[in-house]
Amino acid sequence: MNPSDLEFDLRHIWHPYTSMTHPLPTYPVISAAGVELELSDGRRLIDGMSSWWAAIHGYNHPVLNEAVKSQIDRMSHVMFGGITHPPAIELCQQLVAMTPAALECVFLADSGSVAVEVALKMALQYWQAKGEKRHRFLTLRHGYHGDTFGAMSVCDPDNSMHNLYKGYLPNHLFADAPQSRFEDEWQPEDITSFRQLLLQHHNEIAAVILEPIVQGAGGMRIYHPEYLRQVRKLCDEYQILLIADEIATGFGRTGKLFACEHAQIEPDILCLGKALTGGYMTLSATLTTRHVAETISQGEAGCFMHGPTFMGNPLACAVASANLKLLSDNQWQQRTQSIESQLKAELLPLKSHTTVEDVRVLGAIGVVEMKQPVDMASLQRRFVQHGVWIRPFGRLIYLMPPYITQSEQLSKLTNAINDVII
Ligand code: PMP
Repeated sequence: MNPSDLEFDLRHIWHPYTSMTHPLPTYPVISAAGVELELSDGRRLIDGMSSWWAAIHGYNHPVLNEAVKSQIDRMSHVMFGGITHPPAIELCQQLVAMTPAALECVFLADSGSVAVEVALKMALQYWQAKGEKRHRFLTLRHGYHGDTFGAMSVCDPDNSMHNLYKGYLPNHLFADAPQSRFEDEWQPEDITSFRQLLLQHHNEIAAVILEPIVQGAGGMRIYHPEYLRQVRKLCDEYQILLIADEIATGFGRTGKLFACEHAQIEPDILCLGKALTGGYMTLSATLTTRHVAETISQGEAGCFMHGPTFMGNPLACAVASANLKLLSDNQWQQRTQSIESQLKAELLPLKSHTTVEDVRVLGAIGVVEMKQPVDMASLQRRFVQHGVWIRPFGRLIYLMPPYITQSEQLSKLTNAINDVII
């Protein structure tokens, strides 16, 4: 790549959460195939990030490429208002079939954050239609649900942008994050804060929103399924809607198709994104029950008030549809299980290291939490020198590799982590 292009990038292009005055370095990637990213100087890096939970089948997959190519020759986009098309129908048929039976009605949108906005709006309109004023959401500390305003308002208040946007963000309710770890014994007092908030505020709460089992960007915390069971029970008791944000955890990442399955619970509203298109295009889906959909439709507006321009984009739906077929053909369960066993074998021993606070593994997710925040730029450089792509943040160095990652490739990722933390 031309050095002047990189200078242009540095000077003119914003990257996620990156300063425009002191930007962190960016690495020019010119192609990607399988689990490898190719840099412009010819170096190949094994990808440990799946492009932020998305590229579950790896890059440049022939089946997914073909799905996009054949759809683009028919039509790349057409408005969804008053029009429908086979890619959307085929995708939604699969989504309805693979998610809990009660989740029958699908709203397609552009990104994970928008899926969350849609879920929150569904809950608000649901109560409005029932003639009740309920404007608050109950959620968990350490949660993360996206960067748009509604989504931001239910992100962890300390660990996110609440201070910056004080006055703009509505004031929601935050229960203490679960402390019982996934594999440890359940501590019954874990649910106390959640229960108390529900008890005090249930008349104003429209819905509970949480990331089931794995709290991602808010700390990569993996918690006990009993917490989720108790939440479901309390939501039922107080007849409050439960929104499961499975944007990161959905489609096999935690070793179950959806993380709610670890607790055998079903949400009233489910948000999906990221791996939905196998990392090819941006698309999200918010599913809900017929009861919620019908209640909303009987309200003052007579419909759900949302309709993005690119709703149900045929290219995105076609590749999502092919991606879900691939998932069911590809023995994702065996693959995530073997990734989990290997991550446990190769990462858990790092726990004894003096600089390491904790190590946790679930499904195809491996997290090494350091005692001190890491120097992102220097660690990133060292990972690239090791021939791997791992992007740490805060005190966390973590892996969520594509499911197709082979054992030697995974070892290269875990060895790189081992080497940089010493
Ligand atoms: N919810 C969760 C749990 C997420 O991890 C993310 C993205 N990291 C989002 C919502 C927002 O998705 P997007 O970045 O596609 O808007």
